[in-house]
Amino acid sequence: MKKFDLSYILNELGEERKKYFGSVSPPIIQTSNFAFPNIQTLRKSLHSELNNYFYTRGNNPTVEILRKKVAALEHAEDALIFSSGVAAIAAAVMSHIKSGEHVVCVRNPYSWTYKLLASYLPRFGVSATFVDGRDAKNFERAIQRNTKIFYLETPNSFVFDLQDISAVVKIAKKHGVTTICDNSYSSPIFQNPIDYGVDMVVHSATKYLSGHSDIVAGTLCTTRKKIERIFETEFMTIGACISPHDAWLMIKGLRTLRIRLEHAAKGTSQVVKYLEKHPKVENIIWPFLPSHPQYKLAKKQMRHGAGLFNVTFKTKSLRKMDNFCNSLKRFLLACSWGGYESLFYPVSAMIESQNYQSEKPLSMVRFYVGLDEPEVLIEDLEQALKKL
Ligand SMILES: *Cc1c(COP(=O)(O)O)cnc(C)c1O
Repeated sequence: MKKFDLSYILNELGEERKKYFGSVSPPIIQTSNFAFPNIQTLRKSLHSELNNYFYTRGNNPTVEILRKKVAALEHAEDALIFSSGVAAIAAAVMSHIKSGEHVVCVRNPYSWTYKLLASYLPRFGVSATFVDGRDAKNFERAIQRNTKIFYLETPNSFVFDLQDISAVVKIAKKHGVTTICDNSYSSPIFQNPIDYGVDMVVHSATKYLSGHSDIVAGTLCTTRKKIERIFETEFMTIGACISPHDAWLMIKGLRTLRIRLEHAAKGTSQVVKYLEKHPKVENIIWPFLPSHPQYKLAKKQMRHGAGLFNVTFKTKSLRKMDNFCNSLKRFLLACSWGGYESLFYPVSAMIESQNYQSEKPLSMVRFYVGLDEPEVLIEDLEQALKKL
């Protein structure tokens, strides 16, 4: 497969400017439908909705530019773009499983991935085992006769445990199991699971790929053959396609993917180093911190740590945690991540919700460093930590 340099992918690939008046930014082909000059062309295009413009639930010129860029970013042959990350995840899983079969999934995946595997798919006779992915052998130990998928998310949500991608892929290949990896955390800038033999890579493009907190989208990258099959089954039947307008916003977001991630790498290092030395910090989890138990593995398979990390503070008081949370000003109190704005999401927010897992300490907070100056964020933390 042809590999392109990064700026070619982000600035040029897929853009056929001659077709649209030399316009530098591509047009938003905001249409549901495409008309044909004659019956012969219509007949030909019906053979493959994936390769022709027929109806926008299938393919659309603006979306197609995005497909090319996203596939190239993940070193994949092709990609499909969905209306959300979870739609891409569900399509990837459902395309390789049927009733009576079994999935081995890393423990603590993204919450709705967990719901899909733990409570939704069991309705259709699909079962799942969740394993501690820090030891690749746990995937092998959980294999059953009917295991078809290993589902990875490295680093995984909230706790940032890593899975050794090469080691898990090796076990999967030995047993004829398909591997899927959620690569949202690292983005293709910092990690390419396909280079380590993963079969399918999924992203919440809502996060880094679009990068501006203005759209919800998902991507699935894999071989051309698998894309053709998934297009004809999950993609077209479930119909979770992206709108041309949102595809255009994502193309615009991708232009700065590299510089946003470079900024995240530098800024996060600085904020993490400040917090690591703070006397009120009990523990900090960021894959590129030498104190991370899997630092060596992180260095091996990732190019850098991204903007998300996790801090546990030295307090058991909910009141003090609430004071701290209410004092932060530059970090916005919100879920999600991957945009320009810096965010935080405390475990203590979840104590009254069904998602609360009591094994997580009440003083644990997930932080996301966006495009703010690290000095400003450190100042904000400094004043809020006085309230803790
Ligand atoms: C947000 C997120 C998802 C879900 O993506 P949506 O775009 O919200 O559907 C999946 N995986 C990870 C790691 C996420 O952070």
